[in-house]
Amino acid sequence: MENQFDVIVIGSGPGGYVAAIRAAQLGFKVACIEKRDTLGGTCLNVGCIPSKALLYSSECVAFAKKGAEQQGLFYTNVSFDFGKMLSRKENIVAGSVKGIESLFKKNNITIIYGAARFISPNELEVLGEKTVILKAKSFVIATGSESIPLPFLPFDENIVLSSTGALNLNKVPKKMVVVGAGVIGVEIASIYNRLGTEIIVVEMLDRICPAMDNAVGKALFQSLKNQGFVFHLSSRVSEAKINKQKVILKVETQNEVLNIEGDILLVAVGRSPYSESLELEKIGVKKTAKGFVEVDSQFRTNLPHIFAIGDLIEGPMLAHRASEEGIVVAEIIKGFKPHINYMAIPNVIYTQPEVAAVGFTEEEARAKGLDLLIGTCSFRANPRARCMGDTEGFIKIIGEKTSNRLIGLHIIGHNASELISEGVIALEKCLTLEDIAHICHAHPTLSEWVKEAALLALGRAINL
Ligand SMILES: Cc1cc2nc3c(=O)[nH]c(=O)nc-3n(C[C@H](O)[C@H](O)[C@H](O)COP(=O)(O)OP(=O)(O)OC[C@H]3O[C@@H](n4cnc5c(N)ncnc54)[C@H](O)[C@@H]3O)c2cc1C
Repeated sequence: MENQFDVIVIGSGPGGYVAAIRAAQLGFKVACIEKRDTLGGTCLNVGCIPSKALLYSSECVAFAKKGAEQQGLFYTNVSFDFGKMLSRKENIVAGSVKGIESLFKKNNITIIYGAARFISPNELEVLGEKTVILKAKSFVIATGSESIPLPFLPFDENIVLSSTGALNLNKVPKKMVVVGAGVIGVEIASIYNRLGTEIIVVEMLDRICPAMDNAVGKALFQSLKNQGFVFHLSSRVSEAKINKQKVILKVETQNEVLNIEGDILLVAVGRSPYSESLELEKIGVKKTAKGFVEVDSQFRTNLPHIFAIGDLIEGPMLAHRASEEGIVVAEIIKGFKPHINYMAIPNVIYTQPEVAAVGFTEEEARAKGLDLLIGTCSFRANPRARCMGDTEGFIKIIGEKTSNRLIGLHIIGHNASELISEGVIALEKCLTLEDIAHICHAHPTLSEWVKEAALLALGRAINL
């Protein structure tokens, strides 16, 4: 095997694989190194894809158990085969990771399976089936992140689970305690809640998914409570032990100390950047106090031929953000001057109802002292939502008063994950609320409520 490349990408997640493909498109000789047995990183193997596959299966169960009746459909004795749901998920994952392999072949990218570590600033040692030494002019590190355990209870992936273990259970647990009400916690809890698991969530903050706009956060909190979630907010797990295949937590709430027991503990308190095995300190690559690899605005580390992207550097830990950085970093290596507008990176929570957001929340905008135009339209009056019988949620549009520019779009409701694209385009293209109000939206659609929200913010709603 040849061992000299123009660009070596370490890690094949949504950051790394996209960087490798874009670099190959730009004419570079590229290798991508992956320590897992399959390509695709956290996202395809143990993150976005398996979680969304199980979320969809469980949504079907919830519909059969509840929503179907109002459509005149009666499922009697609804049952499901969890094993089949798991194998369906595995097939989706297997197909997705194979897809990356074919993309690599198509783009003439050399795949090397094994764990990479730097032995000098220009050389890597890869410990795979055989040990190989590789050299490159430029390196892109995209080694991602890993789940953070509780300090006093390591993951055993049997009773004390990270998200990876929670997406690979062999049976539906009776009672699941979730520590951390962030996106991963509420999504995975939603899967099992719909399949009949009792869910108890312990969260240190006084709200769930704190990055959300406050009004949206409150609506999601209420909705999940209505679905049966029990929340202990402003609460801290101070002790945890395992006894007879049960986990027992000591939880300090604001006014009492509780003992909470469950069959399974999902620890979803966040993820930390992962670069341990690379031995970056030996070649002098700097990290931030929180352990992220330090980069400049061009994703360059303090060694100018070594770049880092994705979960490994500071910023929102999202697959699509990592992929944008993958494209941009390859173009920077080529000498182009691309740019990412971080303000226009959407955020989605795949609960039911879904939540999606882009831009500033109302609280962030007010903290900046901006004068705002706000329009909030409930789906209760939206014709399409009424036809579907799914009217939960609303669209909240936020504009800046002086310029009239859109600065935030927040959606909670059916298909929010798809609807948010309109806000992303509008923000990216610096559209005003007037622009949005002038755009013709198909009727009946959920998306016409984006226009209606803009009209409402401008004081001339038609349908409300
Ligand atoms: C349960 C869950 C659900 C999620 N859902 C979503 C979602 O719906 N939408 C979304 O946008 N994001 C989601 N995310 C986050 C998303 O998965 C990450 O933001 C994304 O995968 C980061 O991409 P990355 O390329 O930076 O790193 P990763 O995807 O983590 O890939 C890093 C790769 O590097 C490899 N690697 C590490 N060290 C070495 C080494 N020394 N040598 C060789 N290879 C190495 C790893 O094996 C891994 O394959 C989810 C995450 C989880 C855990």
